[in-house]
Amino acid sequence: MEAAAERAARYARAAHKLAVAKTVAVVGHLRPDADAIGSVTALTLGLEKIGKTVTPLVGQPVPFSRNLLSIPGADRVSPATDIPGEHDLIVAVDCGSVDRTGTLTGAVLAAAEDEKLLVIDHHVSNTGFGTVNLIDTRESTTSMIRELLLMIGVPLDRDIAHCLYAGLMTDTGSFRWGTASMHTLAAELMSYGLDPRRIAADLVDSTSVADLQMVGHVLANTRMVEAGGFNAAVLIADQATIAGHSESAVESLADYVRELNGSNLGVVLKEQGPGWWAVSLRSSRCDVSQVAIRLGGGGHVAAAGYTSRGTAEEALAELATVLSTTDVSL
Ligand code: 5GP
Ligand code: MN
Repeated sequence: MEAAAERAARYARAAHKLAVAKTVAVVGHLRPDADAIGSVTALTLGLEKIGKTVTPLVGQPVPFSRNLLSIPGADRVSPATDIPGEHDLIVAVDCGSVDRTGTLTGAVLAAAEDEKLLVIDHHVSNTGFGTVNLIDTRESTTSMIRELLLMIGVPLDRDIAHCLYAGLMTDTGSFRWGTASMHTLAAELMSYGLDPRRIAADLVDSTSVADLQMVGHVLANTRMVEAGGFNAAVLIADQATIAGHSESAVESLADYVRELNGSNLGVVLKEQGPGWWAVSLRSSRCDVSQVAIRLGGGGHVAAAGYTSRGTAEEALAELATVLSTTDVSL
């Protein structure tokens, strides 16, 4: 395990970057979840509290999931194809690789060229694409941001606590997993007067009849597939099924195949455009990040993703091939 002094030095380097910058752009990953938006908004509101000018962004041309607007400051996070204006520092949060910054990839790479890119992330697959890279796979991105805010003298308030809690909730599967320190942080954040039931309702529970019917349709077609020596529980969410439905409902599908009886791997194929699939992998029995990395994606040991092209059957065949030749042992 990393020595405490080494860890402290890595956090101090990142904190120093934040402390000396006057103008900052904060970039979250495309198709953001509450972890990405909570990280962007917590850092934005925190830096503004100590007088910095901050531009919060996500790299996609279209608005993100509406339920995320319940997070304080989320209405200010602009979907963008470029980083507007001049900044002393660009911070990429919760992005395991530069392509996760989506339509901002070019601008983020340019920031790296100019040696003003700070990466704050927790994915095991992180490629270290920043000038300074703070990668901590033991933490959630929001708990890392909480630590950095402490180090640069930003006191928490109710809004920042809400942002951090939203990210923490997503990253712990609504507090079903995560480290003891993440759960302790949740308790501390709640002391700022948060309403956890309301936050859970806004971010996780709230749905519509149409979305529920879509989820039901996909679940009714759950398949068990032998893939590269694994018993995969597979959900296929094609364009015709998910078009017009909320991103949060589509993303919720992965929760149903995390631990299906008789399976040791969960796979969700989500068709983003004709023949273009975002694939989610879930498992508590093998390291799916290794599989996603080999397919050009990334993520965590238990939850990872990548994109694939072709038909659903072709995507499954490609996955089976990679599964049979990857060391996924825990
Ligand atoms: P999800 O399956 O919920 O989209 O993502 C699971 C995890 O894998 C998340 O931590 C996410 O950041 C990561 N992930 C998903 N898709 C990709 C991808 O295409 N590239 C990379 N680098 N990471 C991904
Ligand atoms: Mn995220």
